[in-house]
Amino acid sequence: MYCILKWRWYNNKYRKREQKAWTQALKWWTEKKEGITTVKRKRNDKHKIIGGVDYKFCNIHDEYFPEESPFVPSTLEYFYKNDSNSLDGLSSRCKRCEVQRATKWIKDHPEQFKKYLSKYDHKDVKKKAMLVQEKRLREIGYYKEYNKKNKDKIARYNAYRQQHKTHTLTKKEWNKCLEYFDNSCAYCGMSMEEHKNLYKQSLHKEHVRNDGSNGIENCVPACKHCNSQKRTYLLEDWYNETNPRYERERLDKIYEWMYIESLNIENKKAS
Ligand SMILES: [Zn+2]
Ligand SMILES: [Zn+2]
Repeated sequence: MYCILKWRWYNNKYRKREQKAWTQALKWWTEKKEGITTVKRKRNDKHKIIGGVDYKFCNIHDEYFPEESPFVPSTLEYFYKNDSNSLDGLSSRCKRCEVQRATKWIKDHPEQFKKYLSKYDHKDVKKKAMLVQEKRLREIGYYKEYNKKNKDKIARYNAYRQQHKTHTLTKKEWNKCLEYFDNSCAYCGMSMEEHKNLYKQSLHKEHVRNDGSNGIENCVPACKHCNSQKRTYLLEDWYNETNPRYERERLDKIYEWMYIESLNIENKKAS
């Protein structure tokens, strides 16, 4: 939303900007000559202290919220930042009005808005816009509050992240791994072909130890079922006699694989 407003502002005012700057400079000079301190007068015009709270006048409040008072608390919660405003560093319109104005503009100018979107379709530009947005949210303490309110959600998300860590295997290493396990799930023995027929995808790369490395020694092929069943369990806690797909031989094979590959890595480091 901020970007839309910024872009609009840019388009509307850029041409008149220079002219305006000159007239303002002239005004400032004449007022200074006559001994009028405009800064103080201007700030007092816009600001009003009611009950110890600093309120700021919103320029377009009448247009969108005519039944409300145009004085809104002068904080970043209610106003966007505007660094070019040297008086208080806030926008001259309150956040709610800015949003209303922007949505109204989008409704009135669908073609221009489409053009604007295509302009900002580039990945880098999107990323930059995201960073600006994130910085803004951080400044008003949005994330802190969000984290406080959603502790459970974040814990779940972190567990998910842990579960879906990505491996750093090369294709050659992955092929070697598949070959060792006969192109089948290391836990239940489902073959690659069966898996492709059933799930329309290849076998997954599975972290044996969730807190382990992303390397080859911690990776086994697994079918979709086993992969989703194991989640963040320890191998021994999940793959044992209570598991209907458990087979002692397969467990030994997994141990063997992990042992051999970690030895290989150590040898490589030593040589
Ligand atoms: Zn307003
Ligand atoms: Zn399986």
